[in-house]
Amino acid sequence: MTGHFDVIIIGSGAGGGTLFHALAPSGKRLLLLERGEYVPREKDNWSTRAVNLEGKYNTRETWRDRDGRPLHPHTNYFVGGNTKFYGAALFRLRREDFGEVKHWGGVSPAWPIAYEDLEPYYTRAEHLYQVHGERGVDPTDPPASAPYRHGPVSHEPRIQQLSDDFARVGLRPFHVPLGVMLNEKDPHASRCIRCDTCDGHPCLVSAKADAQVVCIDPALAHPNATLLTGAHVTRLETSSSGREVTRVVVERGGQAEVYSAEVVVVSAGAINSAALLLRSANGKHPHGLANGSGVVGRHYMGHVNSVMMALSKCPNPTVFQKTLAVNDFYFGSPEWPHPMGHISFVGKLDAYTLKAGAPAIAPGWTLDLMARHSLDFWLTSEDLPDPDNRVTLDRDGNIVLSYTPNNEEPHRRLVARLQQLMKQQTKCAVHGHECHEGLFARSLYLGQRIPLAGVAHQNGTVRFGHDSQTSALDVNCRAHEVDNLYVVDGSFFPSSAAVNPALTIMANALRVGDHLRGRLGA
Ligand SMILES: Cc1cc2nc3c(=O)[nH]c(=O)nc-3n(C[C@H](O)[C@H](O)[C@H](O)COP(=O)(O)OP(=O)(O)OC[C@H]3O[C@@H](n4cnc5c(N)ncnc54)[C@H](O)[C@@H]3O)c2cc1C
Ligand code: SF4
Repeated sequence: MTGHFDVIIIGSGAGGGTLFHALAPSGKRLLLLERGEYVPREKDNWSTRAVNLEGKYNTRETWRDRDGRPLHPHTNYFVGGNTKFYGAALFRLRREDFGEVKHWGGVSPAWPIAYEDLEPYYTRAEHLYQVHGERGVDPTDPPASAPYRHGPVSHEPRIQQLSDDFARVGLRPFHVPLGVMLNEKDPHASRCIRCDTCDGHPCLVSAKADAQVVCIDPALAHPNATLLTGAHVTRLETSSSGREVTRVVVERGGQAEVYSAEVVVVSAGAINSAALLLRSANGKHPHGLANGSGVVGRHYMGHVNSVMMALSKCPNPTVFQKTLAVNDFYFGSPEWPHPMGHISFVGKLDAYTLKAGAPAIAPGWTLDLMARHSLDFWLTSEDLPDPDNRVTLDRDGNIVLSYTPNNEEPHRRLVARLQQLMKQQTKCAVHGHECHEGLFARSLYLGQRIPLAGVAHQNGTVRFGHDSQTSALDVNCRAHEVDNLYVVDGSFFPSSAAVNPALTIMANALRVGDHLRGRLGA
């Protein structure tokens, strides 16, 4: 198969899937190229053993770290991209994150657009992805032009108790904004059943607002929209001037196929998009396509993340745990005036998931017992863009990911604050204050202990900006050097902030979608 289209989008995740949906009603001929297939609907979708211990849906691709050691990335190649597996915590960046922010470890640079430029698209993205939340409780919440269309997902009793404890000591805990199709008023009619295998798993009943369910499937009802699965884009070729992409080279079913379009949008995830541009070097673009600045592949960020288990003698019977968050330390505290980050939850851990992460076992506990008695926190702090943290290719064109963590002290402080908070919980009726046993770190990186493999929040490798010397994309996410080339996945971030990235990728894809409609006269 070959053909010419108005727009080709490469990659069907948060960025590409959302853009596909935005452009589908335009009548323009769209081709979405996705290297993966649909996630099979099967009972293993909800098996922690299959998903977390055996890594059934992880790519088998091997990357390398900067020392040449093999890296098995925790990432997924399917229709809908990593949104099929995400926890659907859909946060806006804070308004301040768009400006320059001073951190303990350096400066987080300003974005070339202001929060207000993205705000209308955040609202559209929240409505599209059916976010359930509550405005004005999170003390760092940026202003919004419309309420959420769905109220917040309620806390189960143990989480409500913790929320009350946090509020009692003066914090302002709030409900995580979540893209799940839950109707708590009418559970019988609710598509979401509020299960314990959401975060990290595909949803067997299609109740998670992921890019396939919410964007790609409805977009395909338009006759002008085409999806090709198993379509691995290996190279982009340009005209002799180097000013436009003229050929999109695809490997599909062992055969090479070539497509072309007026506009080509790369959205393969921050690591694969950078790799694709680097692989597409030619005489006019000797260091990689659109890489005259040399920034393509650089400034890789992925957050400083931890999963911390707070163990109690009493069990934690919570099923759907990811409902509570705390942002009181996001910009620092009176005692330590540097941004620290964000505290929330992961899905409830069980013994299989713990076994995969190989945590230190608390003395006197088994993995199963730990899992039944833990509150499982997710802590995120901002990592800063370092040009030496980067994606490159080895001699065979395989991905090499070099990363040295930075700005780690704020994360240690955040963990210490959580530790303090857990000691201030209300006295348990059975064990008194002795109920809390302590905080234990769980290695995040499933199936291996290589921290670098946890690339869930990858971003920053094809940054946008005003200056073509220091950025690869302009403010519309168009390549400075290639007129018809755009990038709309997490690559465009100039800084990573400290909340989950997906909603910002979706909102930006809608923004770029409006720009493209203007460009195409649609
Ligand atoms: C377990 C897990 C939990 C997460 N939880 C959250 C959360 O709660 N909240 C949040 O905001 N974020 C979360 N994330 C992160 C979120 O999923 C990502 O930020 C988001 O999906 C990134 O969108 P993207 O468009 O940049 O890339 P992706 O969604 O990764 O999409 C890229 C797509 O491109 C395809 N592709 C790659 N290379 C090629 C190629 N050469 N040719 C064709 N196709 C290609 C891939 O198969 C993939 O479908 C989570 C991620 C994981 C893994
Ligand atoms: S049913 Fe609800 S909680 Fe369970 S995986 Fe689906 S969206 Fe998540």
